[in-house]
Amino acid sequence: MGSGEKRKTSPQVPPAPTAPRPYRGPSREETLARRQEYLSPALLTYYKDHPLMIVEGKMQYVWDEQGKQYLDAFGGILTVSVGHCHPSVVSRVADQLATLQHATTIYLHPAVSQYGERLAGKMPRGSGLQVSCFTNSGTEANDLAVLTARQHTGRFDFIALRNAYHGGSQSAMALTAHSTWKYTTPHSFGVHHAMPGYCYRCPMGLSYPGCDLKCARDVGELIRFATPGEVAGFIAEPIMGVGGVVTPPAEYFGIVYEEVRKAGGLCIADEVQTGFGRTGTKFWGFENWGVVPDMVTMAKGIGNGFGLGAVTTRPEVARTMTGKIFFNTFAGNPVQMTQALAVLDVIEGEGAQETARVEGGYIRARLAELQERYPLIGEVRGMGLMLGVELVRDRKTKEPADTEAIQILQATKALGLLIGRGGLHGNTIRIAPPMCVTRADSEFLVDCLEEAIGALGR
Ligand code: PMP
Repeated sequence: MGSGEKRKTSPQVPPAPTAPRPYRGPSREETLARRQEYLSPALLTYYKDHPLMIVEGKMQYVWDEQGKQYLDAFGGILTVSVGHCHPSVVSRVADQLATLQHATTIYLHPAVSQYGERLAGKMPRGSGLQVSCFTNSGTEANDLAVLTARQHTGRFDFIALRNAYHGGSQSAMALTAHSTWKYTTPHSFGVHHAMPGYCYRCPMGLSYPGCDLKCARDVGELIRFATPGEVAGFIAEPIMGVGGVVTPPAEYFGIVYEEVRKAGGLCIADEVQTGFGRTGTKFWGFENWGVVPDMVTMAKGIGNGFGLGAVTTRPEVARTMTGKIFFNTFAGNPVQMTQALAVLDVIEGEGAQETARVEGGYIRARLAELQERYPLIGEVRGMGLMLGVELVRDRKTKEPADTEAIQILQATKALGLLIGRGGLHGNTIRIAPPMCVTRADSEFLVDCLEEAIGALGR
C-alpha cells in the first residue's frame, strides 16, 4: 500500500505453497509446562506472555499448533537461508541419512572434500582463502579462528568491537561486547573492544563524513595503549546482527584492517549472519567494504537450519594448526556436508542473493517511507535481507523505544508475521526472512509493520 492511503482491512499473509499437516502432538500448554519444569530457565523466549509454538515450516512460512500461518521474517535468527524444508535439500539429506549418517573426518568422505572445494570457489579470486575447517556452530568457528590467529602470529591480544556478538562460550563471550550477554565470570582476557562504525549513535559524538572516521582510526591508538603494540588479530561482523543491524560507513573496515595489519594481526570476518548472499549485493558481507580478510567464519545460513559452522583461511595460516591435534567429532560429517552442498546449490540455482537484493531493496524503500511518517522510527539500515529499524521515543534524545519494539513484535505476530529484535536495548526491529520471499511477502511484511506502528500512534 502506498504512503498516506488508509487501510480498511488488516494485511493477510500470502498463501503458502502447501497446507500444513494436521497437528496431533502435545498441546502448547503442555509443552510450555514441560519446558518450564525440565528446561533451563535461562533459555530466551520470545513473546513471553504467550510463547509461540512452531510445529511445521515450508519455505518462508511456518505454522503453529493451531494451524495459524506466519511469514517467518526472522528465519530462525537468520539461519533459514533458502526456506524451511526446501524440497531438494530435504530429499538429498534424507537420502544421505539412509546411506551413511556419521563416520567423522578421520576417514575420507566425498561430501566434505567437495564442499571444501565449493567454499574455496566462493572466496574472492586471488585471496588465497582456500582451506576450510568445519565446526558445529558459529561460536565454535570463532573460537577456532581466534585460536588459529594466536597460533599463527605467536601473539595473544585481540581486537573486537563494542556492540558485537560472536558467541556464548567463555572465549566467544570474551569477543562479544554487550553487557546483556556477558556473565560475571572472568572474561575478555586479552580482548580489547574498539568503537564500532555506529553512526546513528556515534561513540565519539561526531557525524559522518566530517568525523574523518575517527572511530576506525582509534583502533591504532587502542593497539598502542592497550596491547604490547602488536596483536594476534581482529574480529568483526561486516554488519552487526545481534547488535541491531549496525552498518558501518564504507571506509570503516579498510582503515581498521590497515591498523590491525600494521600491528601484525590477522583480520577475521564473522560472516555468520552476513554470508551466503544475504546482503544482496555480494555473496560475503566483507565484499561490500572492499576488504579481504585473512579468515572467514560462518554458520547459520550455511546449513539452512542444520548445525554447521566453518572457518576458511589461507593454507599457510591453517598449517599452523598441524602442530597439535585439532578434532571435532561431528563437524564435517556426511549429513552435515550433504546439507551444506544442497543449500549452496539452491542459493546458486534459485537466485537467492538476487532475491535478497531485490526484495530487500523494496522493503527498505518502503520502510524509509514509513520513517517519514512515524517519528518512532529513528533509523532504517542494513543491506539486502538483513534490515534493521531502530525505534526511539524522541528523535533528538534517541531514547531507545524498547517496550514499543516488544509491542510491535506482539502486534505483528497476531497479524501472522515473525520478526526479531536487536541492539543493546532491544529497540531495533530485525527483518531477515529466508531468501525466497516474494513481492507479496515483502508487501505483507511492511503492511504489518505499518499497522503495528500506526496502532502505537507515533
Ligand atoms: N557470530 C555471529 C555474528 C552471530 O550472530 C552468532 C549467533 N547469533 C554467532 C557468531 C554464534 O553462533 P552460534 O549460535 O551458532 O554459536
